[in-house]
Amino acid sequence: MDIRLGDIVRMKKPHPCGSFEWKIERVGMDFRLCCMGCGHKVMIPRRQAEKNIREVRHSDVPVVPEED
Ligand SMILES: [Zn+2]
Repeated sequence: MDIRLGDIVRMKKPHPCGSFEWKIERVGMDFRLCCMGCGHKVMIPRRQAEKNIREVRHSDVPVVPEED
C-alpha cells in the first residue's frame, strides 16, 4: 500500500467521534495518524494501519517530514 506523509486515509471503522478520515503525520515502522474529526492522534504499527485502511487520498500539498 502506497501511503505518504500528508495523505488522507479512510478507515474501515469510524473513530468514536464519527470520522472515518485520518491524516498521515508520520510514516515508518509506525504510523502517526491525526483524526480529521476531532484532532486525536494515535501511533499504530504499519501493518495494523494498512489492515484498517479502506482508501488512500494523496495530498497535493507537499509536507515537510518532521525530524525526531
Ligand atoms: Zn476523532
